Amino acid sequence: MEEAMKRKVEEVASQVDISQTTPVTCEKCDGKTFKQTLMLRKVSSIVSPTGQEMLIPVAVFACESCGHVNAELVDAELT
Ligand SMILES: [Zn+2]
Repeated sequence: MEEAMKRKVEEVASQVDISQTTPVTCEKCDGKTFKQTLMLRKVSSIVSPTGQEMLIPVAVFACESCGHVNAELVDAELT
């Protein structure tokens, strides 16, 4: 499954003209490099499948320079 996903991403990437893409920059410092990090979402006991409060890690990209996470990158993970 992991391998198939990777191939799909590479396949899509090869079909995209890089000049038609827009670079993503940090909203705060204009940084252009990002690192993958985790945000935690808290699930209240009311909606949790286990009936207990729990934390779910969500992978996001944070600015490598200042650590800021752009709002658009957070939304992308939640939709
Ligand atoms: Zn930044």
